[in-house]
Amino acid sequence: MQIFLNCFILILNPKLSPPVFQLIAGVILSLIISLISYRLKYLTLNGSIAQFFLGSLLFGLGGLKWSVPIIVFFFLSSIISKIRRKYNPGVDSFFEKTGTRDIYQVLANGGIAGLLIIVYQFYSSELLYAVYVSSLAVFCSDTWATEIGTMRKAKTVSVINFKTVDQGVSGGISLAGMFGSLLGAFIIPLSSLSWISKNIFTFMLVVTVAGIIGSLVDSILGALVQAQFKCIICGKITEKKFHCNQNSRLTNGIIWINNDAVNLLAGISGGLFYILLNYLLKI
Ligand SMILES: [Zn+2]
Repeated sequence: MQIFLNCFILILNPKLSPPVFQLIAGVILSLIISLISYRLKYLTLNGSIAQFFLGSLLFGLGGLKWSVPIIVFFFLSSIISKIRRKYNPGVDSFFEKTGTRDIYQVLANGGIAGLLIIVYQFYSSELLYAVYVSSLAVFCSDTWATEIGTMRKAKTVSVINFKTVDQGVSGGISLAGMFGSLLGAFIIPLSSLSWISKNIFTFMLVVTVAGIIGSLVDSILGALVQAQFKCIICGKITEKKFHCNQNSRLTNGIIWINNDAVNLLAGISGGLFYILLNYLLKI
């Protein structure tokens, strides 16, 4: 296994190989990851097809520079999610979507990356790469905030009015969740440091802050505009349109703004915060 991994790392390195090999290796690697993700039920069928195309773009065109951060995100997040489900499986019933990710989740998390790598082919600036890493830092920060925040039963309050809410509800924050948010926002820029030419300390600081702010934007949008439902059978507040085999009642937010739309907006905000902080700090 290690030998195969080393081969891929060699082939994906643009300094050592012509781009055509990188492209072929990227498509093959993307195919393998998509098949494994489907087999292990990390992704639905349409989710794994979308991931195959996005992965081919990122691995094939971006090489290791663009592949490592997103692989770190998906790989570590899958492990943390499995651990959380082992310790606190009950919280899953609140989430609109559980472990197996579909095409909309893949596009909400990977669409920005796909767009940026295409633009990068024509305009290869480090700013575009930093925006990509920042949006990824938001997704990782948000994912780990949820997973680590709900790993054990803990006091959770609304980000809007600080009233106690159920664990796993959109816009709920907890101490463990904030720790997860910080850790998730930190690990992504860390995984991209080999390809950064500017001061790595300011880069780490700015991307981590952008990731945490984006994750906070996710929580705030989640509380204010994301559709929230109440189950008419068991009375639970949920992101699910159906609960206990019945249509749930809309209690908050806008019906067509779901978790994927909120994630996408939060990811874009992370990139914009990077640009803003970058401009303000003149790094
Ligand atoms: Zn119910």
